[in-house]
Amino acid sequence: MKFGIDLGTTNSAICKMEGGEPVIKKTDTLKDTLPSCVSFTRKKVVKVGDSAYNDLRQAKSQASKSLSSGKVNVFIEFKRDMGTDKTSFSSNMDASFSPEQLSAEVLKTLKSFIGDENVSAAVITIPAKFKADQIAATKRAAKLAGIEHCELLQEPIAASMAYGLSASNKNGQWLVFDFGGGTFDAALIKVEDGIMQVKDTEGDNYLGGKNLDYAVVDDIIIPYLQENFVIDEIMANETTLNILRDAMKFYAEQAKNQLSFKPQADITSQLDEFGEDDEGNEIELDLVVTQEQLKPVLAKVFQKAIDITKDLLKRNGLSGSDLDKLILVGGPTYSPVLREMLREQVTPNVDTDIDPMTAVAKGAALFASGIDSEVKEEIAVGTVALNLSYEANSVQPMEYVTVQLDKNECTGNIPEKLFVELVRSDNGWSSGKVEINDIGDVIECQLMEGKNNAFTITAYDDKGTVVPCFPKEINIMQGIVVGNAVLPYNISIEAHDSGLDKNVVKSVKGLEKNQQIPATGALNGLKTRNQLRPGMEEDTIIIPIYQSEHNAEGTSAVHNDHVFDVVITGDEVGQLIPVGSDVDITIKVDRSQMLKLEAFFPVSGETVEKEVEIAARSVISAYELEKLKDSANNKLRALKSSSSISAGETAEADKLISDINNRFEGEKSSEDGRMHLQADIRRAFLKMEEVEQGHEWEALEAEIREEFDRLERANNDLGNKYDKQVAAVRSQVDMAIRSKDVRQGRAVLDDINSLFVAVTLIYQLMGFIDFHLKNFNSIQWKDSNRARQLLQQGKEIAATNPSESTLHPIVRSVIDLMIEPPVGGPGVSL
Ligand code: ADP
Ligand code: MG
Repeated sequence: MKFGIDLGTTNSAICKMEGGEPVIKKTDTLKDTLPSCVSFTRKKVVKVGDSAYNDLRQAKSQASKSLSSGKVNVFIEFKRDMGTDKTSFSSNMDASFSPEQLSAEVLKTLKSFIGDENVSAAVITIPAKFKADQIAATKRAAKLAGIEHCELLQEPIAASMAYGLSASNKNGQWLVFDFGGGTFDAALIKVEDGIMQVKDTEGDNYLGGKNLDYAVVDDIIIPYLQENFVIDEIMANETTLNILRDAMKFYAEQAKNQLSFKPQADITSQLDEFGEDDEGNEIELDLVVTQEQLKPVLAKVFQKAIDITKDLLKRNGLSGSDLDKLILVGGPTYSPVLREMLREQVTPNVDTDIDPMTAVAKGAALFASGIDSEVKEEIAVGTVALNLSYEANSVQPMEYVTVQLDKNECTGNIPEKLFVELVRSDNGWSSGKVEINDIGDVIECQLMEGKNNAFTITAYDDKGTVVPCFPKEINIMQGIVVGNAVLPYNISIEAHDSGLDKNVVKSVKGLEKNQQIPATGALNGLKTRNQLRPGMEEDTIIIPIYQSEHNAEGTSAVHNDHVFDVVITGDEVGQLIPVGSDVDITIKVDRSQMLKLEAFFPVSGETVEKEVEIAARSVISAYELEKLKDSANNKLRALKSSSSISAGETAEADKLISDINNRFEGEKSSEDGRMHLQADIRRAFLKMEEVEQGHEWEALEAEIREEFDRLERANNDLGNKYDKQVAAVRSQVDMAIRSKDVRQGRAVLDDINSLFVAVTLIYQLMGFIDFHLKNFNSIQWKDSNRARQLLQQGKEIAATNPSESTLHPIVRSVIDLMIEPPVGGPGVSL
């Protein structure tokens, strides 16, 4: 394999291995990168790249003239939607396109830069945090673009590869700081003797160069316009304001990019580029921006990324000084403002050697060179087919290459005696002519350190005449090896926590975030909450599977990404599985994050196997989102009104939620806006649940004290028959209060309640009879006549001569006659 592709949110690039070196292939406009932008013209021509990006600019300029958005035929940032069922409608084509269809157009255009060679195999990079559905969508895009054999590589690993090959120190912690056009990703990479692995990742899917551009618009261009034009009316309306901001964005971007290399930049618009101001004067731009002016504007956006980076380091027990290298990736990292901030706040070891726009594609090509392409080339008649086996990545100074004649693949005349010579591309080493046969011979190849080593292969007959052979070249990369991929999220299931009496997500042991894959995880000792009768399809146990964040353990499931509900029915078991049976769950994750679930029921010894289907996620509706936002606001209010919670504790959530409330109306109508809002609402919920978890104990302690008092009073009132038991529970209460452990507290509360029932049994029994007579018709009975008869009998006894010994058996019989309705929600409990 020799092609590497960076399929970026804003820009993409293709790189080819040539003579052992990764070479970026120029685009149609002779640039290194291609805007990931697709435009459909009225004549139904598909344009990709710079010309499409120009169309986008024109569409925005056009919109500013008429102050209305008009029809949409240009698309960008569709990578964000990968794995969802969102589609983009083009009026010119009268058709909708999925994110993978649009991505396929970008891939096809990249392929066209390779000249006449067909790119049927390539390495394509993906963000480290891409989940199974997004990975599957990327593979579909590759297929649509005719890339039959595609291998995926995580972007930070690709960048580390481009950097690490020539790095002098191949041990330590590296941080890849990837600030792209619309997304920010930080990845901590552990390198041990040249073997690289992602250790942890964090990021923001809605933070990138775009935010810098809008900051320039809002802080520099709009104030300029306010000074020179009258735009109060345009600004007062959210829609027209955004149309104006969108049109100005391109100028802001241009100036921002120039200011990475120059002390000042001119912003001068062309005639008839924008519409008119409130008084009918044509809006024009003619201003100069200096680096000094730009600095504070960019700094506040970059600071968000730096804070995320600091959080990532902190939760891994690291500080900036532990980093051996900080590797810059993404266009905005050219900015001297960012570089200075990183040096000051994180580490002085900021690498500026690799090109942040092409490092990912180069790393992908380097990685590709170590993969055997499955797409076989036709071997010409008379060409000697060779089998070479070796490790394509090595951290050793030499590599053993086994060379073998592959007789089955050869056609035509093959010389009796055959010699092969391997020559390293720098001519610094040669194997000399080595005789080979179909058994094979081992050649010890000397490697240049920290480089890709290309070896040309030449075959000779015994007279020294060159014979055509295949392959003609092999590549061995010395210095770095890519470790196994890791899980970007925790795999969790939703279960009922009886101790806490709520549904929570529970991480599957062994499938935590950053675990190497393939991997197997297990959750043992769960209990079924419904029964499974053999052959009964309507009996179900639902196991909801989620992908969740590192800090989501024990939180409510709604704040995690739902993957799939595994449903086990009575149809799939051969024996009765009663309610409350043990069930052990095993989940297997393969190399490309595909999942399989096994449920083992010890009562029957049966195992049920289920495939986990990963379908495209649908984008949340405005209605659902509104509900989510309201419940976030309610929760915040409740937290703020609680006397035990200080304002400082809720400050972060408060800030997030007021920002969400402000943006809500403006953003809820677009799918992208809704996805962004949903991500932020989740973040707010997680913050609030953190606060809540910190205070759960206080509420529980109050409840325990109250319930225990009630128990003591009841025991006193009813003749102190249970003094011993009450004393035992009292010592448990004391212990729980000392431990402040919520789970222990819940257990004590259960004990208090059971003892209370025992102490007050006679009243409980009478209350039971009363309640079930009153609600008789809303209860499902196995035999309603018998039930009514028993209850009537109980009522009479209660009225005349109540005693525990007479009422208890009656109540027990009534309970036996009730049909338990199946529980909703998750089918297993902890
Ligand atoms: P992605 O990985 O999301 O596709 P890129 O790494 O290609 O994104 O970065 C695109 C962003 O880089 C755009 O916002 C663009 O304006 C910005 N950019 C490009 N060149 C420069 C530069 N010289 N200085 C600052 N920003 C730049
Ligand atoms: Mg990128």
